[in-house]
Amino acid sequence: MANTNGHGEPILIAGGGIGGLAAAYALARKGLPVRVLEQAGEFKELGAGIQLGPNIFRAVDALGLKQELLADVWRPGALEMRCALSGAQVTRVPLDQRFTQRFGQPYAVTHRADIHAVFLKACQADNLVTLETQRQVEGFEQHDGGVTVTLQTGERIAGRALIGCDGVWSKIREQIIGDGKPRVSGHIAYRAVLKREEVPADLWQPDIILWAGPRTHLVHYPLRRGELYNLVAVFHSDRYVEGWNAEADADVLWAHFKGQRPEVLRMLERIETWRMWVLCDREPVKDWSRGRVTLLGDAAHPMLQYLAQGACMATEDAVWLAEKVAAQPHDLPAAFQAYVRQRYLRTARVQIMARVYGDFYHARGPTAELRDRMLGGRSAEQAYDGMAWLYGEM
Ligand SMILES: Cc1cc2nc3c(=O)[nH]c(=O)nc-3n(C[C@H](O)[C@H](O)[C@H](O)COP(=O)(O)OP(=O)(O)OC[C@H]3O[C@@H](n4cnc5c(N)ncnc54)[C@H](O)[C@@H]3O)c2cc1C
Repeated sequence: MANTNGHGEPILIAGGGIGGLAAAYALARKGLPVRVLEQAGEFKELGAGIQLGPNIFRAVDALGLKQELLADVWRPGALEMRCALSGAQVTRVPLDQRFTQRFGQPYAVTHRADIHAVFLKACQADNLVTLETQRQVEGFEQHDGGVTVTLQTGERIAGRALIGCDGVWSKIREQIIGDGKPRVSGHIAYRAVLKREEVPADLWQPDIILWAGPRTHLVHYPLRRGELYNLVAVFHSDRYVEGWNAEADADVLWAHFKGQRPEVLRMLERIETWRMWVLCDREPVKDWSRGRVTLLGDAAHPMLQYLAQGACMATEDAVWLAEKVAAQPHDLPAAFQAYVRQRYLRTARVQIMARVYGDFYHARGPTAELRDRMLGGRSAEQAYDGMAWLYGEM
């Protein structure tokens, strides 16, 4: 039995990714002991960049970790979309003081490992959090007073409740919702992280640049105080491989980006080894709790990455879950229901809108022309108005 410092049985958390660690820390701050069961041999995130909208800063501010998160980020000056065929600028949304004033929080980009490390350090420093590796959760049973989790080794672990933070292929979701495998979007992401000096000076840009092409796009931006450079190239393909880290075939990528601007091709040429993700999501569901078991982050509402919100939504979930649990700590099933009611429509909107943005980025012909006119005609204020539902709330 894990040490819970006399606070009674812990809440179990399956999965120690960004969502699991954010939830562990948020609950511990409310005085609840938690035990995080991670299948991997260490608590670690794979190397790639993620964008952080103002809404995640609102959430980490609530957890008292905003300054820690800001310490290693890069603050881009704008979000810019360019046509990958003509090179023309489609739209440029400033992320300067006007943006920060409008939303009360900044926009930044970070290395996935850096945000994960912020939550990990916070958990390590909190004696209500027990962190355990090599604990692959297979399933659970629940009874009136709690839950019992079974590990792949056959070991059984008891807790007051269970939060499935085990990502898009969640075992816990399988048991409480049972909606099969995730939906394969038909889009594949290749990613790579370069050192700053590996990027030719004329190609290095301080902003987030998205090159929209027919059925492709490339995004690049600096990371980690500007020391690194993140590249994500997305194209259409029916390939399906589970996991976030499969090795990728560069020839397949070249076939899809052929004919695009030299800036795009020269950037892609810099990469020797690509890693690949098959992009998956699920249909939104209205209820992802059953009694003393609930879900959080990608396990609850996996989304395509086109709004750059998966980690942001997982962190928002963590804050709300802890709020609802703290409001009725003696009735966890009711607290979990309240948490889901708070979250399901907001996360469903992001799941749905992320698909729409994916279609927008990869548009061809008249659809692309229409996109360019709609986005290109906006002032900064109009662009901010369009983002308010996402960035203005939590
Ligand atoms: C190409 C791409 C770009 C993205 N860009 C952004 C972005 O810009 N901004 C953003 O906010 N989000 C972005 N995301 C999404 C974001 O990465 C995810 O939404 C986020 O990491 C989800 O966190 P999570 O903790 O819910 O799940 P995961 O990160 O998947 O973590 C799950 C954890 O559970 C563990 N686990 C799994 N199964 C078990 C088990 N049975 N037992 C025990 N442990 C288990 C895993 O090892 C892992 O540690 C992007 C995603 C992709 C694919």
